[in-house]
Amino acid sequence: MNERFDVVVVGSGAGGGVIAGELAERGRKVLLLETGPHKTAADFTRWEAKAEHDLWWPIRFALIDGGAGGAVALLGGRCVGGTTTINTKVALRAHALDHAKWKEASGLELSSSDLAPHYDRVEQRLGVRERTDWRKSVRTVESAFRELGAPLEAVRSYTDANCMSCGSCLQGCPTNAGKSTLNTYIHDAWAAGKLELRADSRVERVLIEDGEATGVEYVDGDGAARRVDAGAVVVAAGTLNTPQLLLRSELPDSPSSRLVGRHLGFHPVRLVYGLFDEPQDTHMVYPITAHAMAHQLDEDGGFVIEATTIQDPIAFATTLEDENGPLWGAPLVEALRNFRRWVGVLAMVNDDNSGVVRLDDSGQEAFDAPFTQVEHERMAGALDFAREVLVAAGASQVLWTGLASTHVQGSCRMGSDPERSVVDADGQSWDVKRLYVGDGSVVPRTLSVNPSLTIMALASRLAGHLHDDPHGYLS
Ligand SMILES: Cc1cc2nc3c(=O)[nH]c(=O)nc-3n(C[C@H](O)[C@H](O)[C@H](O)COP(=O)(O)OP(=O)(O)OC[C@H]3O[C@@H](n4cnc5c(N)ncnc54)[C@H](O)[C@@H]3O)c2cc1C
Ligand code: SF4
Repeated sequence: MNERFDVVVVGSGAGGGVIAGELAERGRKVLLLETGPHKTAADFTRWEAKAEHDLWWPIRFALIDGGAGGAVALLGGRCVGGTTTINTKVALRAHALDHAKWKEASGLELSSSDLAPHYDRVEQRLGVRERTDWRKSVRTVESAFRELGAPLEAVRSYTDANCMSCGSCLQGCPTNAGKSTLNTYIHDAWAAGKLELRADSRVERVLIEDGEATGVEYVDGDGAARRVDAGAVVVAAGTLNTPQLLLRSELPDSPSSRLVGRHLGFHPVRLVYGLFDEPQDTHMVYPITAHAMAHQLDEDGGFVIEATTIQDPIAFATTLEDENGPLWGAPLVEALRNFRRWVGVLAMVNDDNSGVVRLDDSGQEAFDAPFTQVEHERMAGALDFAREVLVAAGASQVLWTGLASTHVQGSCRMGSDPERSVVDADGQSWDVKRLYVGDGSVVPRTLSVNPSLTIMALASRLAGHLHDDPHGYLS
């Protein structure tokens, strides 16, 4: 006999953590499988290389225009709590026009007001608050943003009053002020004995029989192959991994399953740094307290600038560029010598979901970023604006990084049309009953804001649907 659960959730990040925690709190028998380790605040220190080894996926790359245009570095968490354990916790709701883009892309009718009760519930649970505690580095650039017609506003974030602005969010929050799904939804249910959590457990495939998901196969921490049965399977392995898992699970061929891995959105970002005369200590702030929203909509440029932040030294030293390409030799040494004097802003750009997650001929993961002309222009416009703002603020030198993505979305679209989406408006596969997707991959078009709050709101909505059990899957 295999073990049997009401629901098996694959992946414990923004989506999976909320779904597993909420269902377990409601009394459902839930198994949460996570390929990464279970680390807690006691393990988190500002040791960049170690944190990346322990808590992050090794950095992956999407080739831009087949490699001719370089690559987008893909960043994400691989641990209990997923990327929420190592993210910066800015908490924003989707813009009404983002919802309109969703409808256009996949027919999904889900307005701001439809999602509002789910946002409310998540925000309350995570204690979302405004961050008006701007430090010196924000004040240094504030007036330049205003002069250029894009005033800074305080962000909202899921960080509580214990935040000591230490700046080490990307290595895991040492004070638990950062409200990841690890130290909220998951620990609350797990510590009370309501949730079965298995870390170091890599799910290999979803088991499908006669058009229905029956469970999953996974490899446990000792390397043993295991199988569990469930009334419903929720895949929430993240936008880059969920499509791979579905492709390996051999869904029946159909228009909808042929879309698995398509329409990947990157929300591409670049850090842009200005050098100032005085020490700014941008590494000792809560990384994002402010943002400029004047260019948020596509017709206004299609980018948001967040302020202020700086990478820790290894990432800083290995990603700097100027007009001549990557920094090298004496200029790089000089830039590092001045580490305390740089102020970084983050330019995040709306994309058009032209990316792809796929398995290559040998079954290995591969990611493509065939950006359109419009996407290239938006990215160039965002870089130009960020450079302009730093120069206007008095920076004597400006440098930037290559493209990265911390906000991948959209590789298994939710929609109301099986010809244009992978899952229906409830998150259930069009092709396989009892199989749900519950992470960033369902977002039909890249949001113009940071995505995790929306992913959690959609996850909370899915948890409610599963618990109500309209199809009798869990009975
Ligand atoms: C540096 C950084 C900063 C960010 N800052 C913000 C921010 O300020 N605000 C914001 O809104 N968003 C932010 N984000 C993005 C946000 O954290 C993500 O969009 C969100 O966490 C994605 O949720 P998810 O559930 O789709 O995936 P994830 O949170 O990535 O969770 C997926 C989980 O599935 C696990 N998994 C994968 N494959 C398997 C498998 N086969 N078996 C079992 N488990 C598996 C992974 O290890 C991972 O733990 C940031 C991201 C990064 C990298
Ligand atoms: S800046 Fe605040 S939220 Fe981030 S790691 Fe430090 S204490 Fe935690």
